[in-house]
Amino acid sequence: MKLKRVLQYAQFLLQDTVEAGDIVVDATAGNGYDTTFLAQLVGENGHVFAFDVQKQAVESTQNRLQVEGLSKRVSVILDGHENVDQYVKETISAAIFNLGYLPGSEHEVITKPNTTLKAIESLLSLLKVGGIIVLVIYYGHEGGKEERDQVIEYVSHLPQKKVHALRYEFINQKNDPPFIIALEKMKEL
Ligand code: SAH
Repeated sequence: MKLKRVLQYAQFLLQDTVEAGDIVVDATAGNGYDTTFLAQLVGENGHVFAFDVQKQAVESTQNRLQVEGLSKRVSVILDGHENVDQYVKETISAAIFNLGYLPGSEHEVITKPNTTLKAIESLLSLLKVGGIIVLVIYYGHEGGKEERDQVIEYVSHLPQKKVHALRYEFINQKNDPPFIIALEKMKEL
């Protein structure tokens, strides 16, 4: 297959950007798949800060990291990504978001436009020049389309000399498939 699937493309972007020793953020830890992937990329001298507001997600992420022997490289934080500034003081090379609800949970806790946008703004200022933020946008659930639209509205007005904003999306698939927004920082904001 020539065209990378959405999740493959998200991982490709991270892999292409993150180097051993880097500091990175998983803004929505969920079941911890991306946290684990990032922990492998940063190596033993790097660090991952992973956020989730649900205890269930934090525990699931911690368990996965433990099984993989990667716990030491990761701080799993039970708090919203909108508070990332309070925990991360270093320059980061990448961040990832999976918007929506935690798969396998009640669909009550979902990411929300205001907090998502606040987190993107904070992460853009923590990001090094050449770093990227990847958002995997799931929008099939209630409230998902509002969040999608607000994120697109926000990122499409970022100054183009400072941030390159990309949308990667299959346009002939049914059932609201997720798509990617990727932001590459080109200059200090
Ligand atoms: N829809 C994706 C997974 C999304 S998981 C899929 O199907 O694979 C989204 C995670 O974000 C959930 O675990 C949820 O608890 C978490 N979340 C919601 N609001 C958050 C916030 N403000 N900060 C950090 N995590 C949040």
